[in-house]
Amino acid sequence: MAPTTMAPTTKGATAKPTTAKPISPYAAVNNIRLPKNVIPIQYWFTLEIDMTALTFTGSNVAELNVTSQTDIFIFHIKDMEITTTPQVATDQALQNKLSIKEHKGFKPNDYYYVALNNAVGAGTYYVRFDFKAPLSTVLNGLYKSSYTKPDGTNKWLAASQCQPTDARKIIPLLDEPELKAMFTATISVPNNYGALWNMPELTSVAATRPGYLTKTYQRSLRMSSYLLAFVISDFEFRELRTKTNLPVRVWSTPHTINQSSFALIGGVNITEYFEDFFGVPYPLPKQGMQDSISLTDYESIPDFAAGAMENWGLILYRETALLYDPMVSAAGNQQRVAVVVSHELAHMWFGNLVTMRWWDDLWLNEGFASFTEYLGVNEYQPDWEMMSQIVPLDYQRAFGLDAFVTSHPVQVTVNHPDEINEVFDAISYSKGASIISMMRQMMGNEDYQKGISNYLKKYEFKNAVTRDLWRTLTEASTRNINVTEVMDTWTLQMGYPVVTVGDVSGGKATITQRRFLLDPTQNPDVDPASSKFKSPFGYKWNIPITYITADDRNTVKSTIFKMNSNTQITWPDGTWLKANVGQLGFYRVNYPASNWNAIISALVTNPNEFPKTDISGLIDDAFNLARVGQTTYDIALGTTKYLTKETTYIPWYTATAALGEISSMISYRESYGSFQKYYLQQLKPLLDTIRFEDVGSHTQKLLRTRVMSIGCGLGYKPCLDNATRMFQAFKSNSAANAVPPNLKAVVYRYGIASGDVSDWDFLYEYFYKTNVASEKRTILDALSYSSTPWILNRYLQWSINPAKIRSQDTTIVIDYISANIVGRPLAWDFVRQNWPYLRKTYGGSFFSFGRLIRSTAGRWASEFRLKQVQDFFKANPDVGSGATAVNQSQESIRNRIKWITDNEATVDAWLKKNTN
Ligand SMILES: [Zn+2]
Repeated sequence: MAPTTMAPTTKGATAKPTTAKPISPYAAVNNIRLPKNVIPIQYWFTLEIDMTALTFTGSNVAELNVTSQTDIFIFHIKDMEITTTPQVATDQALQNKLSIKEHKGFKPNDYYYVALNNAVGAGTYYVRFDFKAPLSTVLNGLYKSSYTKPDGTNKWLAASQCQPTDARKIIPLLDEPELKAMFTATISVPNNYGALWNMPELTSVAATRPGYLTKTYQRSLRMSSYLLAFVISDFEFRELRTKTNLPVRVWSTPHTINQSSFALIGGVNITEYFEDFFGVPYPLPKQGMQDSISLTDYESIPDFAAGAMENWGLILYRETALLYDPMVSAAGNQQRVAVVVSHELAHMWFGNLVTMRWWDDLWLNEGFASFTEYLGVNEYQPDWEMMSQIVPLDYQRAFGLDAFVTSHPVQVTVNHPDEINEVFDAISYSKGASIISMMRQMMGNEDYQKGISNYLKKYEFKNAVTRDLWRTLTEASTRNINVTEVMDTWTLQMGYPVVTVGDVSGGKATITQRRFLLDPTQNPDVDPASSKFKSPFGYKWNIPITYITADDRNTVKSTIFKMNSNTQITWPDGTWLKANVGQLGFYRVNYPASNWNAIISALVTNPNEFPKTDISGLIDDAFNLARVGQTTYDIALGTTKYLTKETTYIPWYTATAALGEISSMISYRESYGSFQKYYLQQLKPLLDTIRFEDVGSHTQKLLRTRVMSIGCGLGYKPCLDNATRMFQAFKSNSAANAVPPNLKAVVYRYGIASGDVSDWDFLYEYFYKTNVASEKRTILDALSYSSTPWILNRYLQWSINPAKIRSQDTTIVIDYISANIVGRPLAWDFVRQNWPYLRKTYGGSFFSFGRLIRSTAGRWASEFRLKQVQDFFKANPDVGSGATAVNQSQESIRNRIKWITDNEATVDAWLKKNTN
């Protein structure tokens, strides 16, 4: 699954009520895991979906293999009604029925059980249920959705989301990933609708119900229930075929189908590439189809709504993750489509063909897909520098989150559906991707690829655990690397090390390791007593170390730095040393000040002294080490001196993130003045080089979008003038003077920032006119850039008025306004004033509610505001799913206050000294 917007690490988010749980007289029913002696073989199910009443009815017969005596059959169900007495029989036709003692639901575990009067022995049994349910109003199970046609009318559709535990809302079944089975579907729908399911349609005939069609489909392969998918809609499709004649289709609403080409061509290219890479053909039958569907305009509030979901043969996407209009959307939107398509296709092998045995290994599914997505996009778009982009996009992102004491290991015990949902977070995705990438570098691509291919062949149509993969990779290693021994230290404990290189002496230096934590008051070697995770390795890692030295920069030296050992590396005197070559190791590196300074001077002399990913890593490490006092701000800020000569995306991405962090701490303070001057001085040569034109390579476009906004924000006049001029031209004639795609963000933002209410109202109207989802998002963001308090207050009011702003966008809009320093106090007041409504409406949704709290309460940097935040949450202790966010917000404010006390004066002095 690809998230919409990635949630930060969420451990401990779900505060569960402590009221006593009901208890069933049957021991097996009290266990949240199904009994191991009943294994589903296949299911035959029918569904009739009423698109007027927005309900469905169905029946399901399960064929079960019982391996030892049982007197109970337990199924998962949720939010549905069982309409007749279930039947249990020894034959498929349900003639030889068994006598039922009772049948009943058990809500705490989402169970419905059928208890028998007499126990039965090993053998094959059949259980039938009839059921009905409304289409879900939240975005899981089989849910209702709609879209608006160009003529303004509303069209209903139904779509599904089953991962992780909502297939049970559609069909009674044994809903655990290891219980793979084959499914045979019969689906009836009104005759003005189509019905897509995982497998190709075989027949479509008039149903007994007038005006309905009944469709049959090919039987599925053995698959996990969380991969079931349904779409009932009037969508259209475009199709291309792979070299092996596999059809690839993209479906969308009729009026957006012309935005599907980019995803379609990418789907074909990447599928062909993965077939080669994995050495395993696309797993569905050749005559099968592989459908991708874009869904849009959700009616409901997204709770756990994915960006896309890898259902086997029927991948569902958010519109912004599948559709791309080159005339309207920016390079970043295009990249998002390619990345999500590639991510979901990687799951066809890793996840769908071979599935994790239980959700505690979810990281393997998601980490693997999150890494492999780069390989796929790199093949489709070789000049996008995807293999470099992983460094800032995943490694540095994961470094930020995994440096909290409240992080969690990638492999984590989960049982309850709430706990399962929590592991779909950035640690599973971004850290997972990073450590797999590190492992690939350690093994070498050839061995890595061979090992992965062997693993997929060995476990196809089955389930596996993390250890199975490590074992298969160890067997494939021609370098004789014990993959298990290295990788266990990265998956079974949270956090990551900083490797410190000691002073060089006699051509050698000693390296040491210690866990990196953002809070310097915590002991990095032990878990706090309150922590729910205990490290089995005492926060030491087996680290694949790589390094180069100035005298021989083409020879990458490597070693595995084993935990609890002292390792020396070769380092000739008088040269610089750079460790973590290519930044593919998941660790930070600290050096003696003399080496940092040698690196900084080398860079100032020649901005191409190091590869761009390595520069990005140096900047990120230096700023984070300075933040916790492990190096100085002289060194951290020193790494930005060379930026006047830098024109590429990757180092600028990291540098702007690092400087943005400082900006966020001092934006209301006097030192912001010197910060602004220095930043602009470093940025100006780049702004003047790349100019205000939408030209150049993909990464140049990404770079321009990113830095032009910063330039305008720092008050650079040519930037502001261009933005205002283009905005006014667009306003006077939006058809003739459309803003070039990659300049939209900056032009809309600063057109609004320097504009008046008529400019704001114009852009708000345009929000409703455009049918491109990514542009709608760009506009919502731009509207928050107004510097006029009453306009921002009106926007806040509109955010909770569904006639003005859809309720799915409420928390997004409030977050945007709070990011504006004029809007921040307004947003914080607004949230406090409207707390009962916001709590009631969004308090059950972790993603959006956590975001709301962090963005409005958590951005402050003063004692006065900290007290306000504390007082408010003391008076309003019921924060639903936002408990972690409340703690994180207070921790962030305290960290900023401490940073200001410790570092502001030093930073201010350095900036003044280094500004001309
Ligand atoms: Zn995924």
